[in-house]
Amino acid sequence: MAEILVLGAGMVGTATALALQARGHDVVLADRRAPGQETSYGNAGVIQGEAAEPYGLPTNPLTLLRLALGAENAVRLTAAGVLGQAGALLRYLNNSRTARHRAISAVYARLTARAIAAHEPLVAASGAAALMRPHGFRVAFETARAFDAARPEAERLAKSYDRGLRLLDGAALARAEPGLRLRYPGAIEWTDCWACSDPGALVAGYADLFARRGGQVTRAEAESLTRAGAGWRVTGPDGPIEAARVVLALGPWTPALLKRFGYRAPTVAKRGYHLHLRGAPTLNLPLMDTTVSSVMSPMRAGLRIATGAELVPMSAPVNRSQIARAEARARRMFDLGDAVEATPWVGTRPCLPGMLPVLGELRRTPGLWVHFGHGHQGFTLGPVTAELLAETMAGVPSDLASALHPDQAIH
Ligand SMILES: Cc1cc2nc3c(=O)[nH]c(=O)nc-3n(C[C@H](O)[C@H](O)[C@H](O)COP(=O)(O)OP(=O)(O)OC[C@H]3O[C@@H](n4cnc5c(N)ncnc54)[C@H](O)[C@@H]3O)c2cc1C
Repeated sequence: MAEILVLGAGMVGTATALALQARGHDVVLADRRAPGQETSYGNAGVIQGEAAEPYGLPTNPLTLLRLALGAENAVRLTAAGVLGQAGALLRYLNNSRTARHRAISAVYARLTARAIAAHEPLVAASGAAALMRPHGFRVAFETARAFDAARPEAERLAKSYDRGLRLLDGAALARAEPGLRLRYPGAIEWTDCWACSDPGALVAGYADLFARRGGQVTRAEAESLTRAGAGWRVTGPDGPIEAARVVLALGPWTPALLKRFGYRAPTVAKRGYHLHLRGAPTLNLPLMDTTVSSVMSPMRAGLRIATGAELVPMSAPVNRSQIARAEARARRMFDLGDAVEATPWVGTRPCLPGMLPVLGELRRTPGLWVHFGHGHQGFTLGPVTAELLAETMAGVPSDLASALHPDQAIH
């Protein structure tokens, strides 16, 4: 019997396995697929050291109305999507009010501030340096008015949370990105970010590192999780895997499994899409174009365009409207070829209404731990919260880990 079974080998689960192993535990990492094939594959690949405040819902009724009317590509709503998660959305809205959002951000900022330092040794030890561009992430504005309006908020964030910021005028952006065909009046450059050209490969590299250090990576179906004496058992292709403790790191699938153990974890399902477009090397750093709220990232597979949020259940049919607008914009921005995929990739960000991930042991079920809910920044935060989970398991007191206790989100 292993000491700890980590279920889910996305960025969060894989980093958890590494952090527990580093503290001397005997750990098995299991997933129904190979590591890094789901949400941790499909993201925009930015390690977002700049993300001091989590995305709240707009609380201004006019902005909410614009979202409801589909006037913003950042968010797509459907009636079924909103009604199906109305309770979680109301809590999310409430947490988005200024005072509450500031308090949540005070915790969030401490997490993202540690992100680069948490990834750096893993990138080096896993031999993944060639996948990383440790230089930043840019946000470009179509009009001088939009750029001027956004600058004070960027300056507030940079100053309040000590994050690196450079403001580029149109000429500086054009020099930095000579492949851009559109001329922008300016861009914000966040300098404390890293860009990854293959997020799934980075997670696979971290999982290989865990295996090279003596850990076991295997396949198993989390739905088969049952009690086995004082411990836990899942069924894998090579037979049962047993462990004294289990950590659920199943990303957006975690709440469904928790239901089997009598827990409710209301989440806000924020779907995102991506598509790769072929073309000559077009971009040096990931760039968000605010007109379509889409991040364009230079990836090994092509230029990846990743969309904002679609508030629909995980099983909802694909709707191409957001990705189609983003693709049309990308084709104006760059000289691009065919799409690599016939249909866009679809995945769901695991967002909790409290905007903070959760980690820890569930009170009513000793030995059952959770680690999920990283929302828009799980690729960034996996190794940060993994270290907090390992500390918590070791009994190290931490006010930061207490702020992420599952009691706040799981009942
Ligand atoms: C479009 C988009 C862009 C994004 N961009 C960024 C970004 O630039 N930077 C950033 O930091 N974050 C970004 N994110 C968010 C980030 O991708 C997620 O927060 C993160 O990947 C979540 O990681 P995870 O390990 O919790 O989940 P996942 O990566 O989904 O891992 C969960 C794992 O559980 C496994 N699993 C599920 N069910 C079972 C089961 N029953 N049995 C066995 N295994 C199971 C899955 O196979 C999967 O491997 C983006 C997300 C989207 C959708």
